[in-house]
Amino acid sequence: MVKKINDAIEKADSIGIGGHIRPDGDCVGACLGFYYYLQTKFPEKTIHLYLEYVQDEFQFLKFAECILTEADGEFLEKPYDIFVSLDCGDAKRLGFSELLFHNARVTINIDHHVSNPDFAKLNYVLADASSTCEVLYHIIDKEYMDTNLAQALYTGIIHDTGVFKHSNTSRKTMEIAGDLMSYQIPFSKIIDETFYQKTYLQNQILGRCLLESMMILDGKCIVSSVSKKMMNFYGTTPKDLEGVIDQLRVTKDVEVAVLIHELDTQKYKISMRSNGEVNVSKIAILFGGGGHIKAAGCTLFGTLHDVINNIGAQLAAQLEK
Ligand code: 5GP
Ligand code: MN
Ligand code: MN
Repeated sequence: MVKKINDAIEKADSIGIGGHIRPDGDCVGACLGFYYYLQTKFPEKTIHLYLEYVQDEFQFLKFAECILTEADGEFLEKPYDIFVSLDCGDAKRLGFSELLFHNARVTINIDHHVSNPDFAKLNYVLADASSTCEVLYHIIDKEYMDTNLAQALYTGIIHDTGVFKHSNTSRKTMEIAGDLMSYQIPFSKIIDETFYQKTYLQNQILGRCLLESMMILDGKCIVSSVSKKMMNFYGTTPKDLEGVIDQLRVTKDVEVAVLIHELDTQKYKISMRSNGEVNVSKIAILFGGGGHIKAAGCTLFGTLHDVINNIGAQLAAQLEK
């Protein structure tokens, strides 16, 4: 498949790249890494990268200023020869660039979500890989590896592995990260400034979420929710909630953490993290979402009470087994 993908890219004149909505570190690292690689290898091709937005902490990555957002309005050009979806469990996750994906002559799906249904013409999905950046490492021609590319891929790997701590971290992940480190990347700075650093506001919202959390299912599950009102009060955006779910998950004796974020009236984004006993991907898929066994999400409609009941019932069913 790697050869097929590389052959298709070689033949294309125009290439579009897109990552998922609310892009995380793996998504941004994969998109900017692949964009940089293609630009360097094929300077004669037309290559465009589409993302919803890029968080400030990732602006140091090479070509971050070249990202096209929906506001740039450049996305209704003629169809691309190839459109590459990165880090998306399904095509819907592409958001505004989904249209470009479907219009392209050849579609490529490079990802690592177990729930990925191989939605493109050419699919390279490694469910065992820690991150899409780890998958990309197998695709790129090592001749073009340099500091810029290495730091983009390294950023993605540390984000999806929680700095090499989640169970998706393998020996292979460490070997790849080790190789990337040999390209003189500022790894401590990347880890501190893109992963651990929080703004004052982010700490405040984290504090509120922890204070207002509740334990259900005999303490096996911790649930917290964030209302639109609370978000407005602090002036926070959804990206400020990153890391909240991880702090909930490390609560002693908890098997599953659930963070419920109100997107709109009776519309909630659910994030779930499991410590192993529960397969949260199964629950997310049941409600139209997806993800991994230990980290998954979906969107639910109804009152907050309905949402907690629906998710709680599924968690209870799995915990009983
Ligand atoms: P998070 O809770 O951080 O938003 O997402 C956890 C994991 O589940 C990520 O790998 C993400 O890609 C996936 N995920 C979250 N929400 C959705 C969704 O609505 N649909 C799909 N297919 N995957 C999701
Ligand atoms: Mn992602
Ligand atoms: Mn990922």
